[in-house]
Amino acid sequence: MNFSAFSPKLQSQLAKIGIGQPFDFVLHLPLRYEDETHLYPITDAPVGAQVLVEGEVQSCEVQYKPRKQLIARVADGSGTLVVRLLNFYPSAAKQLTVGKRVRLFGEIRRGFWGDEMVHPKIRVASENAELNESLTPVYPTTAGLPQFLLIKHIALALKTCDLADTLPNSILDPLNLPDFSSSVRLLHNPPPDVPQHQLRERTHPGWQRLKFDELLAQQLSLRMARAARREQNAPIIRPQGELATKLLAALPFELTTAQQKVLAEINRDLAQPHPMQRLLQGDVGSGKTIVAALAACQAIEAGWQVVLMAPTEILAEQHFRKLADWLYPLGLHIAWLTGSLKSKEKKAALADAQAGKSHLIVGTHALFQQDVAFERLALVIVDEQHRFGVAQRLALRGKGNSPHQLMMSATPIPRTLAMSFYADLDISVIDELPPGRTPITTKLISDARRDEVVARIAGKVQEGRQVYWVCPLIEESEALQLQTAVDTHAQLTEELPDIKVGLVHGRLKPAEKAEVMAAFQRNEIQVLVATTVIEVGVDVPNASLMVIEHAERMGLSQLHQLRGRVGRGIHESLCVLLYAGPLGATAKARLKVIYENIDGFEIARQDLQIRGPGELVGMRQSGVAMLRFADLEADADLLDAARETACQLLSTQPDIAIRHLDRWLPGRELLLKV
Ligand code: ADP
Ligand code: MG
Repeated sequence: MNFSAFSPKLQSQLAKIGIGQPFDFVLHLPLRYEDETHLYPITDAPVGAQVLVEGEVQSCEVQYKPRKQLIARVADGSGTLVVRLLNFYPSAAKQLTVGKRVRLFGEIRRGFWGDEMVHPKIRVASENAELNESLTPVYPTTAGLPQFLLIKHIALALKTCDLADTLPNSILDPLNLPDFSSSVRLLHNPPPDVPQHQLRERTHPGWQRLKFDELLAQQLSLRMARAARREQNAPIIRPQGELATKLLAALPFELTTAQQKVLAEINRDLAQPHPMQRLLQGDVGSGKTIVAALAACQAIEAGWQVVLMAPTEILAEQHFRKLADWLYPLGLHIAWLTGSLKSKEKKAALADAQAGKSHLIVGTHALFQQDVAFERLALVIVDEQHRFGVAQRLALRGKGNSPHQLMMSATPIPRTLAMSFYADLDISVIDELPPGRTPITTKLISDARRDEVVARIAGKVQEGRQVYWVCPLIEESEALQLQTAVDTHAQLTEELPDIKVGLVHGRLKPAEKAEVMAAFQRNEIQVLVATTVIEVGVDVPNASLMVIEHAERMGLSQLHQLRGRVGRGIHESLCVLLYAGPLGATAKARLKVIYENIDGFEIARQDLQIRGPGELVGMRQSGVAMLRFADLEADADLLDAARETACQLLSTQPDIAIRHLDRWLPGRELLLKV
């Protein structure tokens, strides 16, 4: 099969559906099938299902009322069927000439003129012509690329491509998986006796085999990427730990057991001669920042520089202040680098970083711009890592001589997802919150009762507390979202005359944003109206009431993140989810999840179920190849099997692993670099 002989137009159409080389045809599996293996007598054909019938055209005429349409009658001795075409070419009318024998495939419906098929597939048939022996595949396609072309090329690919198995029976048999070649042949052209639901639900052994192969390829590539990284050198960081000890002694709290555990894991990694790749997961408020600071102390004490990168200016600024509070007293030099710095300040920060003068540099993605260089960078910490793309992380890694990397995330990744997409990372989990937190109460309130909520705000402020009011997400229009926030701010200012109401949103200049946040932190502002910019990481313990408007529009993980902004201090906290009724069934189910659960992992799991992994925050831009066939929740067993098989192959039969990857990820060099 010669791909380059295809016309440029066909090549670009094929590219649109992910076909760029002959073998891609083999893996282009049908969406569904049509059963043309069985001929029904017209009277027996079930209504509402797609069926094949055959008969002679009795009449054919074009009607003009109520609209132009072609109406033909076809009879087979058992009964008569009306064929109706609303748009038609003369050629179609010709196929339906009186006296001709035709095969019709389509859905029978009860119509005005009797049982009818609207726009069936029509073929002129000779009597006793053979029936198809297998189901007819219907492939996913794109505009202008007809099914018959796909069918033709796929059939050819199945003949000419090498379908030899990549895996030995010693692996397949215990898992009850069929061989590759018969699996793909069957899925493209299933015999009529294959139970249709097994094809539809993708539970047929042929499907299982393809999913397994796909998952195995993913596991292999991630593991190989990880092994390749272990070949790289990174500085061994194993100081006495004096800085960390001093910092701990100065803290007003003790580390939780969970924090101690993950810190030990990180320190163990840092002491290795190859780069750490660790994902630190912990629910909102679990205390990841201090863990990062203590890890930074280790690197700094060993004579290295550390970078901490945050996804937003607000968050970077907050980290900077907190870390400065902790680390200045220890005599450390901390720099601050964001896009909004004035050029003079920026120059100074850059010079300090480059000369190795600053121990810790905190900033936003401005950190991985071209002109940023470090003298002795050994540890890169990325907060809210799922907000950054792989490319951004890579750029930062390029700044040092393969530095250690610590990625932090408050979006808990369900086990199957972590196993699958993060198989190349080590994962640490902080699974307990610091003591002394009062649990957050969540209330669902219709926005018809907004007045009561405003009264509650006044009460809270009187008690000395502070309040967040989060304006709805308006996906279609950022301008509209901004307007809503501005309006809400004006309205609340009017409704709460004795209270200072502030406003923060994404369009403010970074310095203005920081100013508002600082005023809120100092309790000069009591009620902060905000767009979802405060979703990430903001920490004001005195804030104990959060109102979220149009909660039904937000993602569950997002709601959980927002809610985590309160409940950080000693005061009892309340999160009010305002919704605009009436709620649909899905919206109800989603709000119920957030109402009933406080555990971020459980919420993420249910979110995953409702939305699918592709939608999970940041997954799309994470740059990790998405799965085409396997479903992480439904195929968790296969994922387990694939993971075990990958381990086994890499340690005992790496040649098989390579062969398998050559088939499934021919461009895998890309992933290996990550
Ligand atoms: P997150 O994991 O969401 O980033 P932070 O690091 O912002 O959480 O921590 C939330 C708050 O808890 C901060 O005010 C932090 O100082 C505090 N904190 C962290 N660890 C502890 C602890 N062991 N005991 C008490 N408070 C802690
Ligand atoms: Mg944080």
